[in-house]
Amino acid sequence: MSSVIFLVDHSGGKISKAAGELATFAKGVGQSVAVVLSSNPAEIITQLSAFGVDKVITASGDWDKYSSAAAAEALAQIMESEKPAAVLITSSARGKEIAGRLAVKSKSGIITDAINVDKELITTQSVFGGSTTVHSAVITGTPIITLRSNSIEAVAAPSTPTVSEFAVTISDNAKLSTVTAATPAVKGGRPELTEASIVVSGGRGTNGDFKPVEAFADSLGAAVGASRAATDAGWYPHTHQVGQTGKTVSPQLYVAAGISGAIQHRAGMQTSKTIVAINKDPEAPILELADFAVVGDLFNVLPQATQAIVARKA
Ligand SMILES: Cc1cc2nc3c(=O)[nH]c(=O)nc-3n(C[C@H](O)[C@H](O)[C@H](O)COP(=O)(O)OP(=O)(O)OC[C@H]3O[C@@H](n4cnc5c(N)ncnc54)[C@H](O)[C@@H]3O)c2cc1C
Repeated sequence: MSSVIFLVDHSGGKISKAAGELATFAKGVGQSVAVVLSSNPAEIITQLSAFGVDKVITASGDWDKYSSAAAAEALAQIMESEKPAAVLITSSARGKEIAGRLAVKSKSGIITDAINVDKELITTQSVFGGSTTVHSAVITGTPIITLRSNSIEAVAAPSTPTVSEFAVTISDNAKLSTVTAATPAVKGGRPELTEASIVVSGGRGTNGDFKPVEAFADSLGAAVGASRAATDAGWYPHTHQVGQTGKTVSPQLYVAAGISGAIQHRAGMQTSKTIVAINKDPEAPILELADFAVVGDLFNVLPQATQAIVARKA
């Protein structure tokens, strides 16, 4: 059976939710091989074994300092030795940078922002603001594919992977830029926007008051997003902007409150599984996209919805 390598995202000894999803994608294609770039991989290997991983390749190094250039070099060397059918990487900014560098190094084709990859390595992408679905395949070299978070439910399948250490050589060129300090973002207890299963976003309709949006998000354990109108006005940080020039999210549930549904906003959330719109304008374009809509004032609707959810949980 052909093997599929995937790069494991991890931080502070914990694998990301996306790592479990990549493991599930890899398992769907062939033998799943996790690559862990860490000098202290024991805890990470234990977590990976919950997702049916067949093999773990670890590579030690000064990974807290190395940039994505070093990660691409390590992956290229492992790829050369393993000769996998494909390499899967998370579609984060860093993941896409590593994938691009790896594609150049290995003279391979690359597909980014896929939402699925099947047994024949045909990928699915949702493009042009979600209006078009594209199926494509790499025809040169080893397919390098980046997959969006939340595109698949990670399947729990306990396994006992074989573990081996790979001695990578990082060139001086790859060490030219290094990370001198990294300060984790203050999360405030909410899930990371691109990984959350539920996202509640607010737009210009909030008029700058995000409290009802945040309260509703917290009742659901959701992340908070925002339209560009809201972030440009300084009502919410740009890091929470969803859309063409913001983040792409694909949660199980996306709630858009006081957001009209401009094409640039849709580009970042259209692949969400269920979309709920709260808008006082029955003609707002977001309503055409929504699975469910509440036509009303978000300052009435959201507090009532929050109260109902909190009461149901009690
Ligand atoms: C190159 C480019 C890139 C862009 N990138 C992005 C991007 O990444 N993300 C993004 O979001 N936009 C982006 N935009 C901007 C985009 O075109 C829209 O201007 C923006 O999405 C509008 O935000 P909005 O829906 O919050 O505001 P509006 O379009 O003004 O809509 C506000 C909505 O709130 C409703 N409303 C008002 N009050 C209430 C209330 N009390 N209760 C309920 N509903 C209410 C209104 O009926 C209306 O539908 C981009 C634009 C360009 C040109």
